[in-house]
Amino acid sequence: MNENQRKEVSNRVAQLRADYVARLPSELAALSSLGESVRAGEPDRGDLQSLHHRLHKLAGTGGSFGLTELSAKARALERRVERWLDEGLDTIDDAAGRALVEDLGALHAAAGKTDPVLQSSFLPRKKTPVSEVAQIWLVEDDPEVGRQLRYQLESFNYSVRMFESIDEAGRIAETERPDLLILDVMFEAEGENSTEKMSRCPALNRLECPLLFVTSHDDFMSRVRAARLGAMGYFIKPIDVPRLVNRMAQIFDQRRAPPQRVLIVDDDADLAEHMRLVLMAQDIRAEVLSRPRDIMEEIAAFRPELVLMDMHMPEFSGPDLAGVIRQHENYANLPVVYLSAETDIKQQVRAMDRGADDFLSKPISDFQLVAAVRARIARARRLDEQISKDSLTGLLKHASIKEAVDMNVRHAHRVGAPITVAMLDIDHFKEVNDSYGHAIGDVVIAAVATLLRQRLRQSDIIGRYGGEEFVAVLPECDVGNAKRVLGDIRERFSSLGFSHGGQTFKCTISIGLASASQHPESDGAELLVTADEALFKAKRGGRNQVCEAKPA
Ligand code: GH3
Ligand code: MG
Ligand code: MG
Repeated sequence: MNENQRKEVSNRVAQLRADYVARLPSELAALSSLGESVRAGEPDRGDLQSLHHRLHKLAGTGGSFGLTELSAKARALERRVERWLDEGLDTIDDAAGRALVEDLGALHAAAGKTDPVLQSSFLPRKKTPVSEVAQIWLVEDDPEVGRQLRYQLESFNYSVRMFESIDEAGRIAETERPDLLILDVMFEAEGENSTEKMSRCPALNRLECPLLFVTSHDDFMSRVRAARLGAMGYFIKPIDVPRLVNRMAQIFDQRRAPPQRVLIVDDDADLAEHMRLVLMAQDIRAEVLSRPRDIMEEIAAFRPELVLMDMHMPEFSGPDLAGVIRQHENYANLPVVYLSAETDIKQQVRAMDRGADDFLSKPISDFQLVAAVRARIARARRLDEQISKDSLTGLLKHASIKEAVDMNVRHAHRVGAPITVAMLDIDHFKEVNDSYGHAIGDVVIAAVATLLRQRLRQSDIIGRYGGEEFVAVLPECDVGNAKRVLGDIRERFSSLGFSHGGQTFKCTISIGLASASQHPESDGAELLVTADEALFKAKRGGRNQVCEAKPA
């Protein structure tokens, strides 16, 4: 969302609220006249129910629009009427009737008072997108270290710009910005420590991009200052580049994650629209369900990652709809959060029994709403990843990548498009484990994964097939192109320096390729076997090479 769109959403939120406040007097007048008719002798149960429903709505929506006092007063009245309904009251005595009319009248005064905290909590967020090829600024005064690091980072498809001093980077930061900044801590010639200098350099401070530090001596105060600057990593020289790159990939993955998606189910159209706009301003995609009966179609089309569900709605209740969602196995894990003025703990617990995960109480400030939605979706995404993704590499696990191969090969055959399957295996990996230990072996495995992610296209699918074996599926790619791309990856990997205990070492990979066009009769599983045979050929041929399978 750009600055103009943000402003527009901000204006629409303000307009929506102004409309609501403008409509309030007539709603309050309607409440007062309902109060009058209820007071006159024997109250009609329908009138009492209507009074209850309108007070309930006023408490929730008014509060969400920043009318805190009005909300609290409406809530107290709602409870009083609820008690009458529960008791099956057939006459209201004089005193109670008078009190009801008086308290309804007092709502008018409260309607003029807004809570500045709730109102000002609408904060459009600035989030800068990451460039296709991430731009890295490397501020390092040792030219040899800088050159080495630059070369290795470029192997991972990062674009690197070098600066030899903090001031030089500061000058460029007046007009340009990187996607990530890597700063050396000590600048010998200037006798400066960048963790100190950074806080005094407004241009660098304003960059608001992820920040990493590298240093040759590890002192605690520099670490503390780096933490205060919000640094996302601190690396000791000689730099373990695969570890550094892994951290960078994590940072960019988070920033590139697709926007979160929320389905709002609420019969109060004003409130629903308000929530939609507030979420949208924070780059969260939100849709409002217009017909409760269409909930499953809407979920299938929009694929929300969370459902914000009102409790009390005229036709179907929140628990009714949550129950329907839970009948569908595919959506067993879709988080459903009730958003309601319900304050009765027993009702809440009963409602949670019907398939909801959590409860948020109305009125809720914009700030709380956004925070609650973000945190819950982030957790759901993490759980999802734990199920399908390998924890060391973040790549698809064996079963998921096999499924992806199968699906993509079938699709390619159907539309007559090229597709290539690659099987990769680290050479003499046992020796890495034996010489440097299992933990270092893991770093090497993670480096292969990062390199594949960085150099393949977004549409390519990558999985960890086994211990040190990987599978990549390259849709729309014939064997010639695949050979070029993977040949380049093989070469770059072989030039990466891994370090352990002052020693550096290198590793290589062997790769086997199988293309659908050369094996038109093969399904996904068969192409995998063929790619594995080609991999075996690469191993036999001396390793550190790419081999394609013989055409069928
Ligand atoms: P080749 O060049 O023929 O592939 O030889 P290699 O030594 O790489 O092949 P081999 O399949 O004999 O050895 C693979 C080793 O990978 C054995 C196993 O202990 C190790 N390994 C498997 N999974 C992991 C893991 O998650 N982490 C680490 N560090 N090692 C692993
Ligand atoms: Mg191996
Ligand atoms: Mg192996």
